[in-house]
Amino acid sequence: MPDRMLQFVRLEQQPPAKRAAGERRVDFDEIYAEFDATAAAAQASRCSQCGVPFCQVHCPLSNNIPDWLKLTAEGRLEEAYEASSATNNFPEICGRICPQDRLCEGNCVIEKGFESVTIGAVERYITDTAFERGWVKPVRPRHERGQSVGIIGAGPGGLAAAEQLRRRGYQVAVYDRYDRVGGLMIYGIPGFKLEKDIVLRRWKLLEEGGVRFHLNTAIGVDLSFADLRARHDAVLIATGVYKPRDIGGPGAGLAGIVPAMDYLTAANRHGLGDDVPDFTSGALDARGKRVVVVGGGDTAMDCVRTAVRQGAASVQCLYRRDRANMPGSLREVKNAEEEGVEFVWLAAPEAFLGDDRVTAVRAARMHLGLPDASGRQAVERLEDKGFTVPADLVIKALGFDPEDLPEAFGENALKVSRWGTLSVDRTSFMTSLPGVFAAGDIVRGASLVVWAIRDGRDAAQQMDAFLQQTAAVPAAAE
Ligand code: FAD
Ligand code: SF4
Ligand code: SF4
Repeated sequence: MPDRMLQFVRLEQQPPAKRAAGERRVDFDEIYAEFDATAAAAQASRCSQCGVPFCQVHCPLSNNIPDWLKLTAEGRLEEAYEASSATNNFPEICGRICPQDRLCEGNCVIEKGFESVTIGAVERYITDTAFERGWVKPVRPRHERGQSVGIIGAGPGGLAAAEQLRRRGYQVAVYDRYDRVGGLMIYGIPGFKLEKDIVLRRWKLLEEGGVRFHLNTAIGVDLSFADLRARHDAVLIATGVYKPRDIGGPGAGLAGIVPAMDYLTAANRHGLGDDVPDFTSGALDARGKRVVVVGGGDTAMDCVRTAVRQGAASVQCLYRRDRANMPGSLREVKNAEEEGVEFVWLAAPEAFLGDDRVTAVRAARMHLGLPDASGRQAVERLEDKGFTVPADLVIKALGFDPEDLPEAFGENALKVSRWGTLSVDRTSFMTSLPGVFAAGDIVRGASLVVWAIRDGRDAAQQMDAFLQQTAAVPAAAE
Protein backbone atom coordinates (compact mmCIF):
# COMPACT_ATOMS: atom_id res chain seq x y z
CA MET A 1 0.00 0.00 0.00
CA PRO A 2 1.45 3.38 -0.92
CA ASP A 3 2.39 5.75 1.87
CA ARG A 4 -0.18 8.17 0.70
CA MET A 5 -3.10 6.13 2.10
CA LEU A 6 -4.08 5.89 5.81
CA GLN A 7 -3.75 9.65 6.18
CA PHE A 8 -6.75 9.92 8.50
CA VAL A 9 -4.44 10.16 11.52
CA ARG A 10 -2.81 13.24 10.06
CA LEU A 11 -5.45 14.82 7.88
CA GLU A 12 -8.82 15.98 9.15
CA GLN A 13 -12.04 15.37 7.32
CA GLN A 14 -12.69 18.34 5.09
CA PRO A 15 -15.94 18.05 3.13
CA PRO A 16 -16.39 20.33 0.10
CA ALA A 17 -17.29 23.89 1.01
CA LYS A 18 -20.95 24.58 1.63
CA ARG A 19 -22.34 27.90 0.47
CA ALA A 20 -23.43 30.25 3.26
CA ALA A 21 -27.11 29.95 4.14
CA GLY A 22 -27.85 33.58 3.27
CA GLU A 23 -26.44 33.09 -0.22
CA ARG A 24 -28.08 29.76 -0.97
CA ARG A 25 -31.54 30.81 0.30
CA VAL A 26 -32.06 32.87 -2.83
CA ASP A 27 -31.33 30.38 -5.60
CA PHE A 28 -31.82 26.74 -6.56
CA ASP A 29 -28.15 25.99 -7.27
CA GLU A 30 -26.45 23.10 -5.48
CA ILE A 31 -25.19 24.07 -2.05
CA TYR A 32 -21.93 22.06 -2.01
CA ALA A 33 -18.90 23.06 -4.05
CA GLU A 34 -16.85 20.52 -6.01
CA PHE A 35 -13.51 19.27 -4.66
CA ASP A 36 -10.46 20.36 -6.60
CA ALA A 37 -7.88 17.74 -7.57
CA THR A 38 -5.69 18.37 -4.52
CA ALA A 39 -8.56 18.23 -2.02
CA ALA A 40 -10.05 15.11 -3.63
CA ALA A 41 -6.70 13.28 -3.54
CA ALA A 42 -6.05 14.36 0.05
CA GLN A 43 -9.48 13.36 1.31
CA ALA A 44 -9.35 10.04 -0.56
CA SER A 45 -5.97 9.34 1.04
CA ARG A 46 -7.60 9.28 4.49
CA CYS A 47 -9.00 5.83 3.69
CA SER A 48 -7.34 3.02 5.63
CA GLN A 49 -7.99 0.44 2.86
CA CYS A 50 -9.83 -1.93 5.18
CA GLY A 51 -9.59 -5.65 4.51
CA VAL A 52 -13.32 -5.88 5.09
CA PRO A 53 -14.59 -2.49 3.91
CA PHE A 54 -17.80 -1.79 5.80
CA CYS A 55 -18.41 1.22 3.56
CA GLN A 56 -18.76 -1.17 0.61
CA VAL A 57 -20.89 -3.62 2.59
CA HIS A 58 -23.34 -0.82 3.36
CA CYS A 59 -23.42 0.66 -0.13
CA PRO A 60 -26.48 -0.78 -1.92
CA LEU A 61 -24.38 -1.08 -5.09
CA SER A 62 -21.42 -2.71 -3.32
CA ASN A 63 -19.23 -0.07 -4.91
CA ASN A 64 -15.50 -0.81 -4.84
CA ILE A 65 -14.97 2.23 -2.66
CA PRO A 66 -11.46 1.49 -1.33
CA ASP A 67 -10.24 0.88 -4.90
CA TRP A 68 -11.47 4.15 -6.33
CA LEU A 69 -10.36 6.09 -3.27
CA LYS A 70 -6.85 4.74 -3.68
CA LEU A 71 -6.80 5.51 -7.41
CA THR A 72 -8.01 9.05 -6.69
CA ALA A 73 -5.34 9.52 -4.03
CA GLU A 74 -2.76 8.45 -6.63
CA GLY A 75 -4.15 10.85 -9.23
CA ARG A 76 -5.18 7.94 -11.50
CA LEU A 77 -8.57 9.45 -12.14
CA GLU A 78 -9.49 7.75 -15.37
CA GLU A 79 -8.99 4.37 -13.69
CA ALA A 80 -10.94 5.62 -10.68
CA TYR A 81 -13.77 6.48 -13.04
CA GLU A 82 -13.64 3.01 -14.65
CA ALA A 83 -13.81 1.38 -11.23
CA SER A 84 -16.60 3.62 -10.00
CA SER A 85 -18.76 3.32 -13.12
CA ALA A 86 -18.37 -0.46 -13.24
CA THR A 87 -20.91 -0.86 -10.43
CA ASN A 88 -22.94 2.35 -10.65
CA ASN A 89 -24.72 3.82 -13.68
CA PHE A 90 -24.96 7.29 -12.11
CA PRO A 91 -22.13 7.75 -9.59
CA GLU A 92 -22.24 11.55 -9.83
CA ILE A 93 -25.92 11.45 -8.82
CA CYS A 94 -25.43 9.06 -5.88
CA GLY A 95 -22.41 11.09 -4.76
CA ARG A 96 -24.75 14.08 -4.49
CA ILE A 97 -27.95 12.67 -3.04
CA CYS A 98 -27.37 9.36 -1.27
CA PRO A 99 -27.93 9.71 2.47
CA GLN A 100 -24.28 8.79 3.02
CA ASP A 101 -24.58 9.25 6.78
CA ARG A 102 -26.85 6.19 6.82
CA LEU A 103 -24.99 4.17 4.15
CA CYS A 104 -21.31 4.18 3.16
CA GLU A 105 -19.95 7.02 5.29
CA GLY A 106 -21.99 6.12 8.35
CA ASN A 107 -20.26 2.74 8.29
CA CYS A 108 -16.73 3.88 7.51
CA VAL A 109 -14.57 2.37 10.25
CA ILE A 110 -12.53 5.49 10.87
CA GLU A 111 -15.82 7.27 11.64
CA LYS A 112 -15.54 5.98 15.20
CA GLY A 113 -12.46 7.91 16.30
CA PHE A 114 -12.01 10.29 13.39
CA GLU A 115 -14.55 11.65 10.94
CA SER A 116 -15.42 9.29 8.05
CA VAL A 117 -13.85 9.48 4.62
CA THR A 118 -15.92 11.86 2.43
CA ILE A 119 -16.88 9.02 0.09
CA GLY A 120 -19.85 10.69 -1.60
CA ALA A 121 -17.98 13.87 -2.45
CA VAL A 122 -15.07 11.90 -3.95
CA GLU A 123 -17.49 9.75 -5.97
CA ARG A 124 -19.11 12.87 -7.36
CA TYR A 125 -15.74 14.45 -8.12
CA ILE A 126 -14.51 11.40 -10.06
CA THR A 127 -17.46 11.30 -12.46
CA ASP A 128 -17.85 15.07 -12.82
CA THR A 129 -14.17 15.13 -13.82
CA ALA A 130 -14.76 12.22 -16.19
CA PHE A 131 -17.55 14.21 -17.89
CA GLU A 132 -15.33 17.30 -18.13
CA ARG A 133 -12.50 15.34 -19.68
CA GLY A 134 -14.70 13.44 -22.13
CA TRP A 135 -14.18 9.99 -20.61
CA VAL A 136 -17.89 9.32 -20.21
CA LYS A 137 -19.00 7.79 -23.48
CA PRO A 138 -22.38 6.53 -24.67
CA VAL A 139 -22.90 2.79 -24.48
CA ARG A 140 -21.56 0.96 -27.53
CA PRO A 141 -22.84 -2.64 -27.62
CA ARG A 142 -20.34 -5.13 -29.05
CA HIS A 143 -23.08 -6.63 -31.17
CA GLU A 144 -26.75 -5.84 -31.77
CA ARG A 145 -29.45 -8.30 -30.77
CA GLY A 146 -32.82 -8.46 -32.49
CA GLN A 147 -34.84 -8.83 -29.28
CA SER A 148 -36.46 -5.77 -27.82
CA VAL A 149 -37.26 -4.62 -24.32
CA GLY A 150 -39.92 -2.14 -23.24
CA ILE A 151 -39.29 -0.24 -20.01
CA ILE A 152 -42.12 1.67 -18.34
CA GLY A 153 -40.70 4.57 -16.33
CA ALA A 154 -37.64 6.76 -16.96
CA GLY A 155 -36.63 7.12 -13.31
CA PRO A 156 -33.30 5.82 -11.98
CA GLY A 157 -34.55 2.21 -11.89
CA GLY A 158 -35.74 2.22 -15.50
CA LEU A 159 -32.70 4.16 -16.75
CA ALA A 160 -30.15 1.90 -15.05
CA ALA A 161 -31.88 -1.15 -16.55
CA ALA A 162 -32.04 0.55 -19.96
CA GLU A 163 -28.30 1.19 -19.96
CA GLN A 164 -27.42 -2.31 -18.82
CA LEU A 165 -29.66 -3.96 -21.44
CA ARG A 166 -28.49 -1.69 -24.23
CA ARG A 167 -24.91 -2.54 -23.28
CA ARG A 168 -25.82 -6.17 -23.96
CA GLY A 169 -27.13 -5.19 -27.41
CA TYR A 170 -30.91 -5.30 -26.89
CA GLN A 171 -33.22 -2.82 -28.63
CA VAL A 172 -34.40 -0.75 -25.67
CA ALA A 173 -37.46 1.51 -25.64
CA VAL A 174 -38.31 3.54 -22.52
CA TYR A 175 -41.86 4.87 -22.09
CA ASP A 176 -42.70 7.68 -19.67
CA ARG A 177 -45.81 9.74 -19.10
CA TYR A 178 -43.68 12.79 -18.43
CA ASP A 179 -42.11 15.00 -21.08
CA ARG A 180 -38.63 14.66 -19.60
CA VAL A 181 -36.45 11.77 -18.51
CA GLY A 182 -35.37 11.27 -14.89
CA GLY A 183 -38.52 10.45 -12.87
CA LEU A 184 -38.25 11.87 -9.37
CA MET A 185 -34.71 13.03 -10.13
CA ILE A 186 -36.13 15.62 -12.53
CA TYR A 187 -39.53 16.60 -11.07
CA GLY A 188 -39.21 15.59 -7.40
CA ILE A 189 -35.72 16.30 -6.08
CA PRO A 190 -34.95 20.05 -6.20
CA GLY A 191 -31.96 21.59 -7.95
CA PHE A 192 -30.26 22.63 -4.71
CA LYS A 193 -29.62 18.89 -4.10
CA LEU A 194 -29.25 17.78 -7.73
CA GLU A 195 -28.95 20.31 -10.51
CA LYS A 196 -31.10 19.44 -13.50
CA ASP A 197 -28.25 19.51 -16.04
CA ILE A 198 -26.72 16.54 -14.26
CA VAL A 199 -29.84 14.48 -14.99
CA LEU A 200 -30.37 15.86 -18.49
CA ARG A 201 -26.85 14.98 -19.64
CA ARG A 202 -27.54 11.33 -18.74
CA TRP A 203 -30.68 11.43 -20.89
CA LYS A 204 -28.65 12.71 -23.84
CA LEU A 205 -26.00 10.04 -23.33
CA LEU A 206 -28.53 7.23 -23.24
CA GLU A 207 -30.12 8.50 -26.45
CA GLU A 208 -26.70 8.66 -28.08
CA GLY A 209 -26.19 5.07 -27.02
CA GLY A 210 -29.32 4.01 -28.89
CA VAL A 211 -31.97 3.91 -26.14
CA ARG A 212 -35.25 5.17 -27.64
CA PHE A 213 -37.51 7.30 -25.44
CA HIS A 214 -41.27 7.52 -25.93
CA LEU A 215 -42.21 10.47 -23.75
CA ASN A 216 -45.68 11.84 -22.98
CA THR A 217 -46.80 8.22 -23.18
CA ALA A 218 -48.69 6.98 -20.13
CA ILE A 219 -49.06 3.22 -20.25
CA GLY A 220 -52.69 2.35 -19.56
CA VAL A 221 -53.81 5.68 -21.07
CA ASP A 222 -51.94 6.52 -24.28
CA LEU A 223 -50.83 2.96 -24.96
CA SER A 224 -52.37 -0.14 -23.42
CA PHE A 225 -50.22 -2.46 -21.37
CA ALA A 226 -51.30 -5.36 -23.60
CA ASP A 227 -50.14 -3.49 -26.73
CA LEU A 228 -46.84 -2.66 -25.06
CA ARG A 229 -46.28 -6.33 -24.19
CA ALA A 230 -47.07 -7.31 -27.77
CA ARG A 231 -44.37 -4.90 -29.04
CA HIS A 232 -41.54 -6.30 -26.92
CA ASP A 233 -39.89 -9.58 -25.97
CA ALA A 234 -39.71 -8.53 -22.33
CA VAL A 235 -41.08 -5.65 -20.27
CA LEU A 236 -39.80 -3.90 -17.14
CA ILE A 237 -42.19 -1.96 -14.92
CA ALA A 238 -40.35 0.83 -13.06
CA THR A 239 -43.17 3.28 -12.46
CA GLY A 240 -42.31 4.40 -8.92
CA VAL A 241 -44.88 5.31 -6.26
CA TYR A 242 -46.88 8.52 -6.50
CA LYS A 243 -50.20 8.21 -4.64
CA PRO A 244 -49.87 10.74 -1.81
CA ARG A 245 -50.92 9.76 1.70
CA ASP A 246 -53.61 12.20 2.74
CA ILE A 247 -54.53 14.07 5.92
CA GLY A 248 -58.12 14.01 7.09
CA GLY A 249 -59.84 16.14 9.71
CA PRO A 250 -62.01 19.24 9.61
CA GLY A 251 -61.08 21.70 6.89
CA ALA A 252 -58.80 19.24 5.07
CA GLY A 253 -60.43 20.19 1.76
CA LEU A 254 -59.78 23.95 2.02
CA ALA A 255 -57.97 25.76 -0.79
CA GLY A 256 -54.30 26.32 -0.05
CA ILE A 257 -53.68 22.74 1.17
CA VAL A 258 -51.64 20.99 -1.50
CA PRO A 259 -49.84 17.67 -2.02
CA ALA A 260 -46.04 17.81 -1.90
CA MET A 261 -45.47 16.39 -5.38
CA ASP A 262 -47.77 18.98 -6.99
CA TYR A 263 -45.81 21.68 -5.22
CA LEU A 264 -42.35 20.31 -6.02
CA THR A 265 -43.20 19.45 -9.63
CA ALA A 266 -44.45 22.99 -10.22
CA ALA A 267 -41.27 24.43 -8.68
CA ASN A 268 -39.02 22.14 -10.72
CA ARG A 269 -40.91 22.80 -13.96
CA HIS A 270 -40.79 26.55 -13.33
CA GLY A 271 -37.03 26.27 -12.76
CA LEU A 272 -36.69 24.39 -16.05
CA GLY A 273 -38.42 27.27 -17.84
CA ASP A 274 -41.83 25.64 -18.38
CA ASP A 275 -45.06 27.59 -18.34
CA VAL A 276 -46.76 26.41 -15.12
CA PRO A 277 -50.19 28.08 -14.71
CA ASP A 278 -50.60 26.90 -11.08
CA PHE A 279 -47.27 28.48 -10.26
CA THR A 280 -47.92 31.75 -12.09
CA SER A 281 -51.36 32.05 -10.47
CA GLY A 282 -49.66 31.77 -7.07
CA ALA A 283 -51.50 28.59 -6.07
CA LEU A 284 -48.25 26.61 -5.92
CA ASP A 285 -45.85 29.47 -5.21
CA ALA A 286 -44.82 30.12 -1.60
CA ARG A 287 -43.72 33.71 -2.18
CA GLY A 288 -44.81 35.96 0.70
CA LYS A 289 -46.79 33.15 2.36
CA ARG A 290 -46.69 31.60 5.79
CA VAL A 291 -45.94 28.02 4.86
CA VAL A 292 -46.57 24.94 6.98
CA VAL A 293 -45.20 21.61 5.76
CA VAL A 294 -46.53 18.45 7.38
CA GLY A 295 -44.15 15.46 7.46
CA GLY A 296 -40.61 14.53 8.42
CA GLY A 297 -39.09 12.70 5.44
CA ASP A 298 -36.89 13.76 2.53
CA THR A 299 -39.91 15.08 0.65
CA ALA A 300 -40.85 17.37 3.55
CA MET A 301 -37.26 18.64 3.72
CA ASP A 302 -37.30 19.42 0.01
CA CYS A 303 -40.60 21.29 0.38
CA VAL A 304 -39.47 23.49 3.28
CA ARG A 305 -36.22 24.36 1.55
CA THR A 306 -38.00 25.11 -1.73
CA ALA A 307 -40.43 27.41 0.10
CA VAL A 308 -37.51 29.32 1.66
CA ARG A 309 -36.02 29.86 -1.80
CA GLN A 310 -39.35 31.03 -3.23
CA GLY A 311 -39.39 33.83 -0.64
CA ALA A 312 -41.94 32.52 1.87
CA ALA A 313 -42.69 34.86 4.78
CA SER A 314 -42.13 31.98 7.21
CA VAL A 315 -41.64 28.21 6.93
CA GLN A 316 -42.55 25.73 9.65
CA CYS A 317 -42.33 21.98 9.54
CA LEU A 318 -44.72 19.99 11.74
CA TYR A 319 -43.65 16.44 12.51
CA ARG A 320 -45.37 14.09 14.93
CA ARG A 321 -42.17 12.47 16.23
CA ASP A 322 -38.96 14.14 17.41
CA ARG A 323 -35.72 14.99 15.68
CA ALA A 324 -34.05 11.72 16.63
CA ASN A 325 -36.92 9.72 15.13
CA MET A 326 -37.49 11.47 11.85
CA PRO A 327 -37.06 9.47 8.64
CA GLY A 328 -35.35 12.24 6.68
CA SER A 329 -31.57 12.64 6.53
CA LEU A 330 -30.24 14.62 9.50
CA ARG A 331 -27.88 16.39 7.13
CA GLU A 332 -30.91 17.82 5.31
CA VAL A 333 -32.57 18.87 8.60
CA LYS A 334 -29.43 20.76 9.51
CA ASN A 335 -29.33 22.41 6.09
CA ALA A 336 -32.98 23.40 6.44
CA GLU A 337 -32.42 24.86 9.92
CA GLU A 338 -29.47 26.89 8.66
CA GLU A 339 -31.69 28.25 5.91
CA GLY A 340 -34.27 29.47 8.42
CA VAL A 341 -36.83 26.67 8.65
CA GLU A 342 -38.49 26.23 12.04
CA PHE A 343 -39.14 22.63 13.09
CA VAL A 344 -42.06 21.97 15.38
CA TRP A 345 -41.41 18.48 16.74
CA LEU A 346 -44.04 16.23 18.32
CA ALA A 347 -46.87 18.05 16.60
CA ALA A 348 -49.67 16.58 14.45
CA PRO A 349 -52.34 18.56 12.58
CA GLU A 350 -55.91 17.96 13.73
CA ALA A 351 -57.87 20.56 11.80
CA PHE A 352 -57.42 23.27 9.19
CA LEU A 353 -59.03 26.63 9.86
CA GLY A 354 -60.35 29.19 7.37
CA ASP A 355 -63.51 30.03 5.40
CA ASP A 356 -62.70 29.17 1.82
CA ARG A 357 -58.88 29.22 2.09
CA VAL A 358 -56.71 27.85 4.83
CA THR A 359 -55.57 30.47 7.35
CA ALA A 360 -54.22 28.30 10.17
CA VAL A 361 -53.48 24.76 11.27
CA ARG A 362 -54.72 23.46 14.59
CA ALA A 363 -52.22 20.92 15.88
CA ALA A 364 -52.05 18.49 18.79
CA ARG A 365 -48.97 17.95 20.93
CA MET A 366 -47.71 14.38 20.81
CA HIS A 367 -45.33 12.37 22.90
CA LEU A 368 -43.43 9.17 22.26
CA GLY A 369 -44.69 6.16 24.19
CA LEU A 370 -43.46 2.60 24.52
CA PRO A 371 -41.98 0.84 21.50
CA ASP A 372 -44.50 -1.10 19.40
CA ALA A 373 -44.00 -4.56 17.83
CA SER A 374 -41.61 -3.07 15.24
CA GLY A 375 -39.46 -1.56 18.02
CA ARG A 376 -40.46 1.98 17.06
CA GLN A 377 -41.87 4.18 19.81
CA ALA A 378 -45.61 4.67 19.44
CA VAL A 379 -46.83 8.25 19.01
CA GLU A 380 -49.48 9.32 21.51
CA ARG A 381 -51.56 12.45 21.65
CA LEU A 382 -51.29 14.65 24.73
CA GLU A 383 -54.78 15.72 25.78
CA ASP A 384 -55.54 19.45 26.00
CA LYS A 385 -52.21 20.48 24.57
CA GLY A 386 -53.36 21.80 21.21
CA PHE A 387 -52.01 24.93 19.57
CA THR A 388 -52.57 26.89 16.37
CA VAL A 389 -50.09 28.01 13.75
CA PRO A 390 -51.05 30.55 11.08
CA ALA A 391 -50.73 29.31 7.49
CA ASP A 392 -51.47 30.54 3.97
CA LEU A 393 -50.07 27.43 2.28
CA VAL A 394 -50.05 23.93 3.78
CA ILE A 395 -48.00 21.28 2.03
CA LYS A 396 -48.80 17.63 2.76
CA ALA A 397 -45.65 15.49 2.69
CA LEU A 398 -46.68 12.30 4.43
CA GLY A 399 -45.27 9.78 1.99
CA PHE A 400 -46.47 7.88 -1.03
CA ASP A 401 -48.23 4.62 -1.83
CA PRO A 402 -48.34 2.76 -5.12
CA GLU A 403 -51.30 3.36 -7.38
CA ASP A 404 -53.47 0.37 -8.29
CA LEU A 405 -51.35 -0.91 -11.19
CA PRO A 406 -53.46 -3.99 -12.08
CA GLU A 407 -56.37 -1.59 -12.54
CA ALA A 408 -54.35 1.12 -14.32
CA PHE A 409 -52.85 -1.46 -16.69
CA GLY A 410 -56.11 -3.43 -17.08
CA GLU A 411 -54.26 -6.58 -16.05
CA ASN A 412 -55.73 -8.42 -13.09
CA ALA A 413 -53.17 -11.19 -13.29
CA LEU A 414 -50.48 -8.73 -12.15
CA LYS A 415 -50.02 -9.69 -8.50
CA VAL A 416 -49.44 -7.07 -5.82
CA SER A 417 -48.46 -7.27 -2.15
CA ARG A 418 -50.76 -6.16 0.64
CA TRP A 419 -49.15 -2.72 0.41
CA GLY A 420 -49.99 -2.51 -3.29
CA THR A 421 -46.37 -2.81 -4.44
CA LEU A 422 -45.71 -5.26 -7.28
CA SER A 423 -44.90 -8.79 -6.20
CA VAL A 424 -41.81 -10.17 -7.89
CA ASP A 425 -39.84 -13.36 -7.57
CA ARG A 426 -36.90 -12.29 -5.41
CA THR A 427 -34.35 -14.03 -7.59
CA SER A 428 -35.66 -13.50 -11.11
CA PHE A 429 -37.34 -10.09 -10.58
CA MET A 430 -40.21 -11.44 -12.69
CA THR A 431 -43.76 -10.46 -11.78
CA SER A 432 -46.66 -12.89 -11.92
CA LEU A 433 -46.76 -12.29 -15.70
CA PRO A 434 -44.21 -14.21 -17.81
CA GLY A 435 -41.63 -11.90 -19.36
CA VAL A 436 -42.74 -8.92 -17.24
CA PHE A 437 -40.22 -7.75 -14.65
CA ALA A 438 -40.33 -4.93 -12.08
CA ALA A 439 -37.79 -2.77 -10.22
CA GLY A 440 -37.42 0.28 -8.00
CA ASP A 441 -39.98 1.96 -5.77
CA ILE A 442 -42.90 0.11 -7.34
CA VAL A 443 -41.47 -3.07 -5.79
CA ARG A 444 -39.84 -1.71 -2.60
CA GLY A 445 -42.20 1.15 -1.79
CA ALA A 446 -40.77 4.69 -1.53
CA SER A 447 -37.01 4.24 -1.16
CA LEU A 448 -33.82 5.74 -2.54
CA VAL A 449 -32.26 6.45 -5.92
CA VAL A 450 -29.33 4.15 -5.16
CA TRP A 451 -31.69 1.23 -4.44
CA ALA A 452 -33.62 1.88 -7.67
CA ILE A 453 -30.31 1.75 -9.59
CA ARG A 454 -29.40 -1.50 -7.86
CA ASP A 455 -32.77 -3.04 -8.68
CA GLY A 456 -32.62 -1.82 -12.27
CA ARG A 457 -29.21 -3.45 -12.72
CA ASP A 458 -30.28 -6.70 -11.10
CA ALA A 459 -33.52 -6.85 -13.08
CA ALA A 460 -31.60 -6.19 -16.32
CA GLN A 461 -29.32 -9.13 -15.58
CA GLN A 462 -32.31 -11.41 -15.04
CA MET A 463 -34.05 -10.10 -18.16
CA ASP A 464 -30.93 -10.86 -20.15
CA ALA A 465 -30.95 -14.45 -18.87
CA PHE A 466 -34.66 -14.74 -19.71
CA LEU A 467 -34.19 -13.29 -23.21
CA GLN A 468 -31.25 -15.54 -23.97
CA GLN A 469 -33.36 -18.53 -22.97
CA THR A 470 -36.27 -17.39 -25.12
CA ALA A 471 -33.97 -16.76 -28.07
CA ALA A 472 -32.56 -20.26 -27.69
CA VAL A 473 -36.01 -21.87 -28.02
CA PRO A 474 -36.63 -22.70 -31.70
CA ALA A 475 -39.79 -21.05 -33.04
CA ALA A 476 -41.46 -24.42 -33.79
CA ALA A 477 -41.05 -25.54 -30.21
CA GLU A 478 -42.63 -22.40 -28.67
P1 FAD B 1 -39.33 7.21 -10.18
O1 FAD B 1 -38.07 7.96 -10.00
O2 FAD B 1 -40.50 7.58 -9.43
O3 FAD B 1 -39.63 7.09 -11.73
C1 FAD B 1 -40.80 6.48 -12.19
C2 FAD B 1 -41.13 7.00 -13.57
O4 FAD B 1 -42.23 6.23 -14.07
C3 FAD B 1 -41.58 8.45 -13.59
O5 FAD B 1 -40.85 9.17 -14.54
C4 FAD B 1 -43.08 8.38 -13.97
O6 FAD B 1 -43.49 9.47 -14.77
C5 FAD B 1 -43.11 7.08 -14.78
N1 FAD B 1 -44.44 6.47 -14.81
C6 FAD B 1 -45.25 6.18 -13.76
N2 FAD B 1 -46.38 5.60 -14.20
C7 FAD B 1 -46.29 5.53 -15.55
C8 FAD B 1 -47.15 5.04 -16.58
N3 FAD B 1 -48.34 4.49 -16.31
N4 FAD B 1 -46.75 5.14 -17.87
C9 FAD B 1 -45.55 5.70 -18.17
N5 FAD B 1 -44.69 6.18 -17.23
C10 FAD B 1 -45.05 6.09 -15.95
N6 FAD B 1 -33.72 9.41 -2.93
C11 FAD B 1 -32.41 9.58 -2.65
O7 FAD B 1 -31.64 8.63 -2.80
N7 FAD B 1 -31.93 10.78 -2.22
C12 FAD B 1 -32.74 11.86 -2.08
O8 FAD B 1 -32.26 12.93 -1.71
C13 FAD B 1 -34.11 11.73 -2.40
N8 FAD B 1 -34.93 12.80 -2.33
C14 FAD B 1 -36.24 12.64 -2.68
C15 FAD B 1 -37.04 13.75 -2.68
C16 FAD B 1 -38.37 13.64 -3.05
C17 FAD B 1 -39.23 14.87 -3.06
C18 FAD B 1 -38.91 12.38 -3.39
C19 FAD B 1 -40.37 12.25 -3.74
C20 FAD B 1 -38.10 11.27 -3.41
C21 FAD B 1 -36.77 11.39 -3.06
N9 FAD B 1 -35.90 10.29 -3.09
C22 FAD B 1 -34.58 10.46 -2.81
C23 FAD B 1 -36.40 8.96 -3.49
C24 FAD B 1 -36.06 8.64 -4.95
O9 FAD B 1 -36.30 9.74 -5.76
C25 FAD B 1 -36.83 7.42 -5.42
O10 FAD B 1 -36.60 6.35 -4.53
C26 FAD B 1 -36.38 6.98 -6.82
O11 FAD B 1 -36.51 8.04 -7.74
C27 FAD B 1 -37.20 5.78 -7.30
O12 FAD B 1 -36.84 5.46 -8.60
P2 FAD B 1 -37.83 4.69 -9.59
O13 FAD B 1 -37.09 4.55 -10.87
O14 FAD B 1 -38.33 3.47 -8.93
O15 FAD B 1 -39.11 5.63 -9.77
FE1 SF4 C 1 -22.12 5.84 -0.81
FE2 SF4 C 1 -24.32 5.98 -2.31
FE3 SF4 C 1 -21.95 6.12 -3.45
FE4 SF4 C 1 -22.78 3.82 -2.42
S1 SF4 C 1 -23.66 4.90 -4.16
S2 SF4 C 1 -20.74 4.74 -2.22
S3 SF4 C 1 -23.95 4.55 -0.65
S4 SF4 C 1 -22.78 7.61 -2.02
FE1 SF4 D 1 -11.77 3.32 3.63
FE2 SF4 D 1 -13.66 3.86 5.49
FE3 SF4 D 1 -14.14 2.13 3.55
FE4 SF4 D 1 -12.40 1.49 5.44
S1 SF4 D 1 -14.58 1.81 5.71
S2 SF4 D 1 -12.18 1.14 3.22
S3 SF4 D 1 -11.50 3.51 5.85
S4 SF4 D 1 -13.74 4.33 3.30
